[in-house]
Amino acid sequence: MLVSSICIACGMPMEDAEDHAGGDIAKTYCRYCAREDGTMQSYPEKLANYAGWLISTQGLDPTVAHGQAEAILRALPAWRDVAASGGPYRRAT
Ligand SMILES: [Zn+2]
Repeated sequence: MLVSSICIACGMPMEDAEDHAGGDIAKTYCRYCAREDGTMQSYPEKLANYAGWLISTQGLDPTVAHGQAEAILRALPAWRDVAASGGPYRRAT
């Protein structure tokens, strides 16, 4: 089956069923954005995970990684409303 969509929570292209959460193509988010029970991670969880990933893969300073993760996430459909309302991690800058 040809599946081509983008995860609403991290922007990852999902080309195969197994890229979707729980292998379920009806899910609009990917397996990396799902908790163990298959539900989607919350904004704070995803933000922390994304920042952690940036730190481990790119060696970024935690503050920089956090800002960058925030900038990336707030452009995605899943978090637009959260970002617009200020979000739990909004900083003064
Ligand atoms: Zn994702």
